[in-house]
Amino acid sequence: MTTKAQSYLTHFRNIGIAAHIDAGKTTTTERILYYTGRTHNIGEVHDGAATMDWMEQERERGITITAAATTAKWKRSGTDQEYVVNIIDTPGHVDFTIEVERSMRVLDGAVAVFDSSQGVEPQSETVWRQADRYGVPRIAFSNKMDKTGASFELVLNDIRERLGAIPAPVQYPMGEESDFKGIIDIVRQRAHTYTNDLGTDIVESDIPEQFAGKVAEMRQQLIEAAAEVDEDLMMMYLEGEEPSVEQLVAAIRKGTIEKRIFPVLCGSALKNKGVQLLLDAVIDYLPSPLEVPAIKGKIEDSEDTTEFPADPEGKLAALAFKIMADPYVGRLTFVRIYSGTLQSGSYVYNASKEKRERVGRLLKMHANSREEVTELKAGELGAVIGLKDAGTGNTLIGDGDDKVLLESIDVPEPVIKL
Ligand code: GDP
Repeated sequence: MTTKAQSYLTHFRNIGIAAHIDAGKTTTTERILYYTGRTHNIGEVHDGAATMDWMEQERERGITITAAATTAKWKRSGTDQEYVVNIIDTPGHVDFTIEVERSMRVLDGAVAVFDSSQGVEPQSETVWRQADRYGVPRIAFSNKMDKTGASFELVLNDIRERLGAIPAPVQYPMGEESDFKGIIDIVRQRAHTYTNDLGTDIVESDIPEQFAGKVAEMRQQLIEAAAEVDEDLMMMYLEGEEPSVEQLVAAIRKGTIEKRIFPVLCGSALKNKGVQLLLDAVIDYLPSPLEVPAIKGKIEDSEDTTEFPADPEGKLAALAFKIMADPYVGRLTFVRIYSGTLQSGSYVYNASKEKRERVGRLLKMHANSREEVTELKAGELGAVIGLKDAGTGNTLIGDGDDKVLLESIDVPEPVIKL
């Protein structure tokens, strides 16, 4: 049961974007930040030139690359519902495997980006296995559909053969390589064609004749996969009834969260095609903090564990997952709040270091701004200024609460010089 105090959490998605180096993680992230910022007038973005300037500035300032958790907002297309999408940086290089594992702990879902001309590469496989280990639901984005050699079928086959997972294509590309024109939404049976280079003007239409047969075949497989995880849908399927879009989305969502279905999307981040549909899919298929198992904590001097369901009114339980040196404010400790509410100016207990610590200011990091807030609630991520002792992987609980250590990964403390 979701209480009134928890209801905001249904509109939260905490996600990571994971990829093999060069598959397009940075480009995809930048585009996500562009489209999420655009709908909320972050920055004065009016035309193509301004957009590219904005991205260049961001790149120079290094904000999109370095923020360990960036908070963005997205209005689900076709609705008035606004969602908070926190993007957690998952290091893309194989040397940072430990860091990838640590970041897996704080996200609720992931987008696995593949280069569709390369298929599933070795490093994508490593990240996929890590996501498996941490039980992270994911959707796949077959990027670079415009590139020579791009093949959606290659990505689907590789997911099957190299990752041993069953791909559930929810989209189909209209053309490949230089012929890549747009994307067919298999669930809604609509075609999206892009009419400007920014990817902001999208014409929706019926499925073009030439793709109709293939899409019908894929849709049938999708319905069969969804019916496997949803009894009502199975009944309908057996009786030859067509599910509604809502029923199909709900069943795919359930299968994705249970990690029995891996929706596959396609696009070209570089050519601004498919990124808005990818954001919609994040909302449709990836879980809110209420839909993932509650984090467990180990009670001191006992074999017992306790759970911290995502609830702002519960006991404070937060995990520090990244320490960064900031030239202006000094040490920034990125935290995910699992339960309770962290207040600026309060005292917390660092259960890992066995120290009482004072929380200074709290920040939410946006793509091109920082917002000072007075509290961070369950399900939220942000940065704390003022924590002197907290290191990565440390558990923060309420001052005076019984000592509990959150499930974390045992990693050596990096030496940070400030
Ligand atoms: P990362 O290492 O995964 O972060 O990859 P980047 O985003 O830096 O992209 C690697 C290279 O691929 C860059 O040269 C990008 O311009 C290029 N790239 C990214 N997305 C696309 C795409 O959709 N199509 C094409 N053709 N190139 C892309």
